[in-house]
Amino acid sequence: MNYLVLSETGLATARRLQNELGGVIHAYGKRVQTDDARPFEDVGAAIGDLFHGGEPLVALCAAGIIIRHLSPHLSTKHEDAPVIALAEDGTAIVPLLGGHHGGNALARDIGKILNLAPAITTASDTMFNVALDEPPQGWCLANPGDVKNFVATLRDGAAVTITGEADWLANSNIPQADSAALHITVTDEPSQGDGQHLVYHRRNLALGIGCERRTDGQEMIALIEHTLAEANLSPLSLAGLFSLDLKADEAALHEAAAHFNIPARFLDLATLQAQEDRLPNPSVVVKTEVGIAGVAEAAALSVGGELLVEKQKSKRATCAISRSSGIIDPNAHGQARGHLSIVGIGPGRADWRTGAAEAAIRRADIIVGYSLYLELIADLVKDKDCRAYNLGEEETRVAAAIELAATGQNVALVSSGDAGVFAMGALAHELLDRDDTPAHWDRISVELSPGISAMQAAALRVGAPLGHDFCAISLSDLLTPREVILKRVVAAASADFVIAFYNPVSKRRRDLLAIARDLLLRHRPEDTPVILARNLGRADEQITAMPLTHLQVDDVDMLTLVMVGSSETRARKRGDGTWSVYTPRGYAAKGTELIKEA
Ligand code: SAH
Repeated sequence: MNYLVLSETGLATARRLQNELGGVIHAYGKRVQTDDARPFEDVGAAIGDLFHGGEPLVALCAAGIIIRHLSPHLSTKHEDAPVIALAEDGTAIVPLLGGHHGGNALARDIGKILNLAPAITTASDTMFNVALDEPPQGWCLANPGDVKNFVATLRDGAAVTITGEADWLANSNIPQADSAALHITVTDEPSQGDGQHLVYHRRNLALGIGCERRTDGQEMIALIEHTLAEANLSPLSLAGLFSLDLKADEAALHEAAAHFNIPARFLDLATLQAQEDRLPNPSVVVKTEVGIAGVAEAAALSVGGELLVEKQKSKRATCAISRSSGIIDPNAHGQARGHLSIVGIGPGRADWRTGAAEAAIRRADIIVGYSLYLELIADLVKDKDCRAYNLGEEETRVAAAIELAATGQNVALVSSGDAGVFAMGALAHELLDRDDTPAHWDRISVELSPGISAMQAAALRVGAPLGHDFCAISLSDLLTPREVILKRVVAAASADFVIAFYNPVSKRRRDLLAIARDLLLRHRPEDTPVILARNLGRADEQITAMPLTHLQVDDVDMLTLVMVGSSETRARKRGDGTWSVYTPRGYAAKGTELIKEA
C-alpha cells in the first residue's frame, strides 16, 4: 500500500495509518521535508506511477486532484487498483476506484483507525449490504462481467431467486422471491450465468494429485480438466491442489495450480498414510515407491470430506477429488512450496532499489539480513518478521534463510548492492549444491532480484568511468589466497581494464590496497584517475577523486568502493565543483591530459 501526501498535515495523518497498516509514504518534496518518506516532484506523475504499480493508493488530498491526474490512466473497472481519497486532516474518506477490489474494505479499516464512516458509493454495498462482485473468502463468482447488469436490475426493484445455500447472501438485504426476474445459483457444477443470473461456487473441493518425476504440465492439466468435466464439477469450486511433500518441486504441479488459479499445498507422508485404509484403489507399486498406496486419493482424503471422484489416470499422473461440507482453507493443510528470494537492495537509497527487488521484499513473509541492511529498508519491512544477523555470520544467515524457506515460507534474504556480486547469491547456491545438502532444501524455489551494485552507483556519481572495458576485484583475502588476488590485479593492470575494487580494506587487512596501487603504477600513468566512493546512497556519502599516486590507504575504509581508471579514463572537475570522470568508448581522447580542473 502507498500513501501520497502533499503537506505536513497529510504526513501526520499518513503516519498514523502507517503505524497500524504498514505501507510506504510518498511526499511532495517541495512542501514536505522528512527522511521517512520517498520524495517526488511531480504530483501527476507520482499519482500515475503509483496507480500503475497496482498496489492500493491512499491519496491525502482533494478528490479532484486525484481524478484530474488519474483520468488518462483509467482502464476497465476490473483492472483498477484501489484508490482512496482521504482528507489531509483525516476527517473524510472516499474510496474512488477499485471499491470491490479491496478499496471499500481498506476504507473501512482506515475509518476505524480515524474514527469516521467511509463514504462508500458502490451501489450494491449501500443498498443491499453485500458486494456481489466481491464474495467472501472461499467463494468465487463465475461471471463477474455480469454483475453490473444484474445490480442495475436489482436497483430497479427486481427480486432474486436463490438456489443453493449461502449464508452471506441469505443474510444480505437482497429482496428474495420464488420465480423472480433475477436468479442466483450456488453450485459446484459448471454453469454459465448471464446478466440476470449470477453463479457462485463454494471452494469446497480438494484436488489430490500424484505423478511421476518431470510429468508434462499440459498432460496434468488435461487430466484434471477431463476429470472435472466427467464428474460435472466446476474448476472454480476447487480450493487447492494437494500432493506429497516430495513433489513440492515438481513443475507440472505448479503449472496446473497456476492454470486453475489455486494454491498448491504439500502434505507429509505420515498425513497421507493416515488415510491408507480409506483408499478405494490402493497400488502396491506406488506403496513401494513412495510409502503410500496412492498419493492422489490419500491427499484428497486427508484434506477432509468424502472422496467424490476416485483415482483417474493419465500416462504419468493421477488425480482424485474430495468434497468437504464447508469451505476448505488450503492454508490449513500441509505447506506451500518454500521460496527464497535473494534480493539486492542497492547501495542504500530507496530510489536506487529496483521494482523487482521491492516487490520480492513485499511478497516475503520473513526477511533475513545483516542488521544495517534491514535498517536501510525499514520503510518496506515495518510490518514484517525480520531476522537480523551480525556482520560476518554469512553462512549461518544464508543457511537460516534456506531452512525457513524449506518450511514452506516465502523468505527474502537481503544483501547490499546486487546480491550476485560479492554477496549472498553465490553462497546460497553453493549451500544448495553440497553433497550433504538436505533433500528438503532442494525443493524450494530460488530467485534473485536485480540490484544496483556499488561500482555502478560509484560510476554514476562521477560520470561514466565504466564506459569501456572494466572488471571488479574483491581484495578480501578471507576466502581467496592473496597470491590469487594479486595475480588478478596484475592481469587487470596489464590488460588496461578500469578496475572496481570491492572490500578494499578490512580492520585486519590494510596492506593489499597499497600493494595493488604500486602494481598498477607499473602499468598506468601516475595521474590515472582514482575515485573513492564512500557510503554511496547513504546519509554521509563522500566522493573524492585523485591521481593514482596520491591514493592513501588511510583515506579508505570498509564502506568505500575504490575505482581506478584505465589509461584512457579522463577526470575533469567542472565549474560547479562536481567531477566528470569518463572512459571514452573509443580512443578519440588519446593524448589529452588525464585529470583536468576547470
Ligand atoms: N553486493 C555488494 C557488494 C558487497 S561486498 C554490491 O553489489 O555492491 C562489500 C563491499 O562493497 C564494501 O567493502 C565496499 O567496497 C562495497 N560497497 C557496498 N556498498 C557500498 C556503498 N553503499 N558505498 C560504497 N561502497 C559500497
